[in-house]
Parts: sequence; structure tokens; C-alpha cells
Amino acid sequence: MITVNEHYAKLQASYLFSDIAKRVAAFQQSNPDKDVIKLGIGDVTNPLPPVCVQAFHAAIDEMATEAGFRGYGPEQGYDFLREAIAVNDFQARGAQVQADEIFVSDGAKCDSGNIQELFSLETRVAIPDPVYPVYLDTNVMAGRTGGYADGRYSGIVYLESNRENNYIPALPSEPVDLIYLCFPNNPTGSTITKEQLKVWVDYARANKALILFDAAYEAFIRDESLPHSIYEIEGAREVAIEFRSLSKTAGFTGTRCAYTVVPKECMAYDAQGNGHSLHALWNRRHCTKFNGVSYPVQRAAAAIFTPEGKAQTKGLIDGYLDNAKIIGSAITQLGFEYVGGDHSPYIWVWGDRDSWDFFDLLLDKAGVVCTPGAGFGRCGQGYIRISAFNSRENVITAMERISQALG
Ligand code: PLP
Repeated sequence: MITVNEHYAKLQASYLFSDIAKRVAAFQQSNPDKDVIKLGIGDVTNPLPPVCVQAFHAAIDEMATEAGFRGYGPEQGYDFLREAIAVNDFQARGAQVQADEIFVSDGAKCDSGNIQELFSLETRVAIPDPVYPVYLDTNVMAGRTGGYADGRYSGIVYLESNRENNYIPALPSEPVDLIYLCFPNNPTGSTITKEQLKVWVDYARANKALILFDAAYEAFIRDESLPHSIYEIEGAREVAIEFRSLSKTAGFTGTRCAYTVVPKECMAYDAQGNGHSLHALWNRRHCTKFNGVSYPVQRAAAAIFTPEGKAQTKGLIDGYLDNAKIIGSAITQLGFEYVGGDHSPYIWVWGDRDSWDFFDLLLDKAGVVCTPGAGFGRCGQGYIRISAFNSRENVITAMERISQALG
């Protein structure tokens, strides 16, 4: 008899985006003349940078020739891309990451979800609240939690991020082995300083713990004193794995390219306390279960590190950050408190009311769709997330409508 993984039954059906879609459909049915502006989901709206498109085309043309055709590539990614990443994303910022520590993949979602299979089921896991839901759900699927009650899974240590701690969680009061951190944060848009991040690195070193650092939004950082990578912090190479993605950096949400950095010093320990190289284990896992990102996509990805590529991706993100400023200033004028938007495409607004009531208010009165904070965890209750991923025109119209409706 085939038996089912019963841990899947503990998962809470994510009604968030389907509930949003239902409410939007109902609104559109009763207001057929009103157009709805969507500032909800975290997906980019601008086209690929021209350098990426050119590189993509050129690589496809190469594949059409006998001399240029390529079959399976190296599972970890082509050297031309791994080297460009190591030099531009790390060494240029003083972070000592080597090309062979970079594993190119088709998404930070899969990598941040798959990485937990390297760790034992007894691993004590600390996860932020509110959170990008992948970290939590993949640990539930693996069987590292108990059941769900009152907005929480038993067996998980929740790292609360709220107005009181300025959206930077405090160190856990009980021992943990695996810590998920994400900065600039989704959903709050908050950032962490080097000094604050060092507290976590020191904790991990002192406790033989491991940090999984999700830097999917690092390209939005505009204050050069803030860390783009955890490897800018002394000692992090021993205790941190970092996830990066081209999804938001270069508009690759539909093209798919990301990477994970596993430094050679990073260890996980067996019951006798012997260290095992996580680089070797992830390499084994990657080669066994993954067959590499397509050659044209890797060529398109490498194009972002050329001078034109750097200028074009910066321009792309500057456009979203300007949208975020427009959203932030309208929110401030309405008298609401918010965080994010300066180094992030997300604006996290404290509504001082139920998240869904706030969502309904913006939809009904202004025809604008946001995301209710409660969908990201218990600490998201009372907030909404507004995303800067839309055209300038739509963002301006949305904020004018919100200002008129609530002003
Ligand atoms: N990590 C965070 C924090 C995200 O918000 C997202 C996407 O929204 C991802 C990872 C997913 O990245 P990718 O598109 O590379 O799978």
C-alpha cells in the first residue's frame, strides 16, 4: 500500500491570493466600469533589459549551429556566469566568495525550499513572522513541525518582526540550529545594518547554528553602508548560506535564473559532533536532482554584469524605487505609518485595523488591490503590503485614488 506523507495534511491551504482574486472578481462584477489597479502580488512588470534580450537571442542563434550547439551543461552553472557573479556580486564588495561556491539554479524559491533536506528532522528551526511562506511550508512538509493552531505551527521558533523592534527580530530565547533571515525583507521591506547582522552571525558561530540568508532583493539597496551580502560580515563564511535571484534584479521572474552560495567552510554536524561540508552535500544534491539552467538563460543572466547591463538593471530598479517613493509619500500624507520602500519594492503600512478590512477599504473605495499583511503570518495582522511593481502611471493614479478616498 502506498502511504501518503501525512505532514502535507498539516499545511494551511494558502487562501491568500485566491481570496484576493475572489474579492477583486466580486468588485469588478458590481463595478464593471471601474478599472482595478493591482499593487498586490510581488511580480515585476517591466520588460527584460535590452542587454539580456540581445544575449538571449545570440545564444539561441549559437544553439542553432553545429559548432555552437550545447547539450547538458555543468549542473552548477557555466563558468562564465559563476565567475561574473563571484567578481561582481561579492569580491567587488570585499566579500570573499569564489566561483566554485556558487550554484546557479532556476529559482531562489526552489533553492530556499530544497535546502532543508540537508538537515536532520530534529533540527530546531527559527523562522521570521511575517515571512515569505516557502521557508515555513517546506519545513512543515518535511515533518519538522507539529500541528497548526492559532496562527502557529508547534515546533517552530517564530522570530517576531514588528513596530516594537523596528522589524528586526531579537535573538531567540530558546536554542535553535537553523535560522532563516531575509533582507531587504519580504513582506516588510525593512533592511538590516552590518552591526545588526553581525549579532546573528556571532550567535550562529557561538551555537554551531546555520543562517539561511535570502538576499533576493539586495539590488534595491541604495544606502552603501547596508550589507548586500551576509559575507560582508566577518565570520559569516563559516555559518551562512545565501540565496540570490535575478527575478527582481533583472526582471527574470518568467525567465528563471537564481543562485545559491555555499562557502566551503560551512558545516553541519553529525551526532558525534563531526562536521560535514555543506558545500559537498549541496553539490551532491544539486547534481543528483538538477540538470542545470539553459545556456541561453545563463548568457542572458551574465549580460547584467557588463557595463550596459549594470546601467540597465540599475535603471529598472530605480524606476520601481521611484514608484515606492510616490506610494510612501501618499501614505505619509494620509497619516499612516509605514516601513520599507527605500531599499525595497514593498511598503508595509500599519493600518491599525484588521488587514482584510483595510484591503476591502482600498478595493471598494479606490479600486486598488494590495496584500493583507495577515497572509504573511500572525505578526502581519494590522498591516497591508503595497508593491511598487507597476507602471508609473498606474502607481500615480492608484495613490491619487487612495488619497481621495481616505483623505
Ligand atoms: N525569496 C523571496 C524573499 C521572495 O520574495 C521571492 C519571490 O517573490 C523569492 C525568493 C523567489 O525568487 P525566484 O523567483 O528566484 O524563485
